[in-house]
Amino acid sequence: MSAKIISGTETAKAIKEELKKEVAALADKVVPGLVTILVGEDPASQSYVAAKNKTAHALGIHSEQKTLDAETSEEDLLALVEKYNNDEKIHGILVQLPLPKHIDEAKVLNAINPDKDVDGFHPVNVGRMVLGEQCFLPCTPHGVLELLARSGVETSGAEVVVVGRSNIVGKPVANLMLQKREAGNATVTLCHTRTKDMDFHTKRADILIVAAGVANMIKADQVKEGVVVIDVGVNRIGVTESGKAKLAGDVEFESVKEKAAAITPVPGGVGPMTITMLMKNTVQSAKQFAGLA
Ligand code: NAP
Repeated sequence: MSAKIISGTETAKAIKEELKKEVAALADKVVPGLVTILVGEDPASQSYVAAKNKTAHALGIHSEQKTLDAETSEEDLLALVEKYNNDEKIHGILVQLPLPKHIDEAKVLNAINPDKDVDGFHPVNVGRMVLGEQCFLPCTPHGVLELLARSGVETSGAEVVVVGRSNIVGKPVANLMLQKREAGNATVTLCHTRTKDMDFHTKRADILIVAAGVANMIKADQVKEGVVVIDVGVNRIGVTESGKAKLAGDVEFESVKEKAAAITPVPGGVGPMTITMLMKNTVQSAKQFAGLA
């Protein structure tokens, strides 16, 4: 058996088409606005922020990019966040992580108005998410849910195994999968580096979600026939002939796809979904501010 490929590129394209229409239909009431704040010159962060602005622009979302030098003080950054908290044109504030070491990341993220926290990292939104209340879902876990739902994968009653317990992927995706909701209602196991027998868990997964940051760590002999695999990992394993970064997921794609019923590739799987869900959250925020949601 060779797996169905769950394309994040295609799914993201479909969602972006829907968003573009929604933004156009909202035009006489509200123009969604997003600001991205980047501190320093980290090349990966620069390219992430550029991609976010480009996507926003393509969808008709007003987007601003603020780039601050690496020496910017925490106080100045907090003042900028506060300025955008009070800016009526802006409905989403994204502070690109990681921040330079002299800045307290948690303090900055907590300073964002939770109603403009389109990344879904503010403790208020995390709390609302855990309680199953209306909130901005964190973008990567939200993208995983959309991929499963739009690919018609039955999650209700499924054994879902998540590898990785970070605050931005593993923990929220595990939490969402167990909630009473579409792409939820699963029985969830969360694995990490202290898990005694990882294979025991991965081998009985109906749906395996891997977010560990270890290239090709999951091999074919660690999964069962017919598993659905969502590979969140993005690992740079070298450089292509054209000088671009060569990427690998956390799952050994070529061997696992022969056993799986469905699998996401890297690149072109979860990656394109993350930015798209950021745009979805920004549009949701604008509608909420305009009293339309
Ligand atoms: P992270 O903060 O480094 O967390 C990694 C988690 O994986 C930790 O909980 C760690 O366990 C666990 N882990 C690491 N090695 C393991 C092993 N050998 N066995 C079992 N568990 C192991 O990483 P992250 O931010 O969640 O990101 C994970 C991956 O997803 C990275 O490759 C990242 O680039 C990618 N990512 C992709 C997107 C996207 O848009 N596609 C977005 C975010 C992240 P401990 O807690 O015990 O240390």
